[in-house]
Amino acid sequence: MNRQQEFVLRTIEERDVRFVRLWFTDVVGSMKSVALAPAEVEGAFEEGLGFDGSSIEGLARIFESDMLAQPDPSTFQILPWRGDAEQTSRMFCDILTPDGQPSAADPRNVLKRQLAKAADMGFTCYTHPEIEFYLLKSDQPGPDGEPVPVDRAGYFDHVPGGVAQDFRRTAVSMLEAVGISVEFSHHEAGPGQNEIDLRYADALQTADNIMTFRTVVKEVALMTDCYATFMPKPFSDHPGSGMHTHFSLFEGDSNAFFEAGAEFQLSTTARQFMAGILRHAPEFTAVTNQFVNSYKRLWGGGEAPSYLSWGHNNRSALLRVPLYKPGKGQSARIEYRGIDSAANPYLSYAVLLGAGLKGIEEGYDLPPGAEDDIESLSAAERRAMGHSPLPSSLHDAIRVMEESELVAGILGEQVFENFLRNKQADWNEYRQQVTAFELKKNLSIL
Ligand code: GLN
Ligand code: MG
Ligand code: MG
Ligand code: MG
Repeated sequence: MNRQQEFVLRTIEERDVRFVRLWFTDVVGSMKSVALAPAEVEGAFEEGLGFDGSSIEGLARIFESDMLAQPDPSTFQILPWRGDAEQTSRMFCDILTPDGQPSAADPRNVLKRQLAKAADMGFTCYTHPEIEFYLLKSDQPGPDGEPVPVDRAGYFDHVPGGVAQDFRRTAVSMLEAVGISVEFSHHEAGPGQNEIDLRYADALQTADNIMTFRTVVKEVALMTDCYATFMPKPFSDHPGSGMHTHFSLFEGDSNAFFEAGAEFQLSTTARQFMAGILRHAPEFTAVTNQFVNSYKRLWGGGEAPSYLSWGHNNRSALLRVPLYKPGKGQSARIEYRGIDSAANPYLSYAVLLGAGLKGIEEGYDLPPGAEDDIESLSAAERRAMGHSPLPSSLHDAIRVMEESELVAGILGEQVFENFLRNKQADWNEYRQQVTAFELKKNLSIL
């Protein structure tokens, strides 16, 4: 038993915690949870808790189904929304094989491997996500077949007495109560659409925080009598929900992306990191944009990026370099705008970081930035400037990813195959559907 584990056991006793939830995620990024009685926690620390891995999407095959969940004591947290009467807490888990080795199929482990690689190269990786989502009146569509948003407000609107404002206030204090610092929260452009930005933290902690965030937001929505969705594009005519993520690499105490006096104050390391992401983005888009619906966002306007490009102050770019504020070298960072709010944060941050590190290792050159709105250029202009498109459907994205040695290496063979199998099944199911769009467009004239 180490000190952190002892601290958790003591806290459970002192705070009279009745349930200890063990959390982990499947390959798609759905949260899995098992509640432990306090007396079982010590054993779970020592040996892990056994469960049937083959019942979890993408974790294990049926003939090797025994897996262990071992709680990470550094993630222990009391969950405030359960009230004080029956204290509930949670810890994130690492998944182990029966012989006690980290499981190659555990998404958290996939990210840890990339972070270890970054550490070998001398870097710590920090991330800061801007999470967009819609607040709806219910999880069921209204009479016209569209979801029903809680309000009709838009970007930065202040709605007096609005549901969204109450919701954001409660959600932000609940997030703070579970140790997640919030930097900004505001109404987004779509009706009922909101954004909450988390303070930067190391990438593993951020990925854990995103999982917690989704749970908290869904719980608070239920408490406020509404429904929160992270679906990438719930409305045809309103913007989708992105999860733009800012990345920076630190070497010791200094930001390795910053170079005073360089163009945009970007160091060579930052340029190579960006070049790695830009070059490999089509290969990992199936991971950062993993649903059929994700491509409705990428190709549906609403400031979502559709082409490989980077820009300084250009909201149509896939990668954006935020404005430099004098004296703020430590906050130098780049923002990846492709990823959506329904992505598995562990796998997504692993592929983004892995692609960036590849750019550094190989010394990739960064192509020129785009200062124009890329959407408004002609196809020929875009080609001439090297802005090739992102995959335009889940099907396209799967095809490109299948050929990617880089993504196979980052995810590891098992996750790579399990993930692709899961996505291909989604696509196969979708391509057989006759949609409302086709009926409306074709039925009465063909
Ligand atoms: N909702 C847009 C997206 O899907 C982003 C809008 C914004 O934050 N500027 O990426
Ligand atoms: Mg934002
Ligand atoms: Mg936004
Ligand atoms: Mg942004």
